[in-house]
Amino acid sequence: MKIALYPGSFDPVTNGHLDTALRATRLVDTLVIGVFDRPLRNLLFSTAERVALIEAAVADYPSIRVMPYNSLTVEFAASIGADLIVRGLRDSMDFERELQTAQVNQTLAPDIDMVLFMASHKYTFLSASTVREIASLGGSVDAFVPAHVADALQRKFASTA
Ligand code: ADP
Repeated sequence: MKIALYPGSFDPVTNGHLDTALRATRLVDTLVIGVFDRPLRNLLFSTAERVALIEAAVADYPSIRVMPYNSLTVEFAASIGADLIVRGLRDSMDFERELQTAQVNQTLAPDIDMVLFMASHKYTFLSASTVREIASLGGSVDAFVPAHVADALQRKFASTA
């Protein structure tokens, strides 16, 4: 049974994240989307909210599970029996960061490999931070996130306005 971990902040989940997750399911029996629960920076959505938004987005895909975690990513990957860690690559900045992370992870957990998915061209420009910025200014994010995520963003910024 092949298991992969797709870790990230997902603040909030975007169509780009979901595209990578669905493509990754072709490689494995189970894909665990790991939602990092100990942010190094301030996040808009709580961990429970980020998990719930992803769960609603992947409800039709039984091979995907969503779990929060607050340990080292490689330790969490080992604890769920993952053979692979999946990440997405949009540009050379993602590449530099992921290469460094992969090399550190290789030292910490030599049995777990990283698999990097090139972002689909229509999502290369898309980041959760761009989505948050557009939504904070009252713009439409309908093209970038599932409808329930767009609603959650609207509610979040209405409540903080
Ligand atoms: P981080 O884990 O650095 O906080 P995110 O939670 O935003 O980053 O993203 C998680 C993973 O998804 C990262 O590997 C990131 O490069 C990838 N990713 C983010 N946006 C996209 C996108 N539009 N298309 C493909 N992959 C993406």
